[in-house]
Amino acid sequence: MMRNLLIAVAALLLSTQLQAKTCELSIDSTDQMTYSAKELKIDADCTEVKLTLNHSGKLAKNVMGHNWVLAKTADYQAIAQDGMKAGADHDYLPAGDARIIAHTKLIGAGESDTITFPTSALAQGGDYTFFCSFPGHWAVMHGKFVFGS
Ligand code: ZN
Repeated sequence: MMRNLLIAVAALLLSTQLQAKTCELSIDSTDQMTYSAKELKIDADCTEVKLTLNHSGKLAKNVMGHNWVLAKTADYQAIAQDGMKAGADHDYLPAGDARIIAHTKLIGAGESDTITFPTSALAQGGDYTFFCSFPGHWAVMHGKFVFGS
């Protein structure tokens, strides 16, 4: 009886550990001011996201820089506008802004950046948008980020 209980507890602990799941995403950006995807989706059981942003173009960061910023859809345009004021020295992002859920650094041609962030900051089925905060890019460089459902 006791032995069965111990086995049950051990199985429960194991399944809890297995529930940690890192989901990998990759997206490319170009000299044509585009991302390679209009939508990124992760499953409901992802506990962490590992995202890589690539830049497959030929233009430097100061003329065609790209980053990947995640925020609620309701917030992203205001963040982009504040980011423009923050300037190049701050990768066109307002420092310590709580509206920013996750972001890569600003990259130029041939570069890439990988970030990892927990999904605990996201609500399943919430309305999220990813975008590039380089001045003038956010209007065309944006897409939908879907968590579950
Ligand atoms: Zn850009």
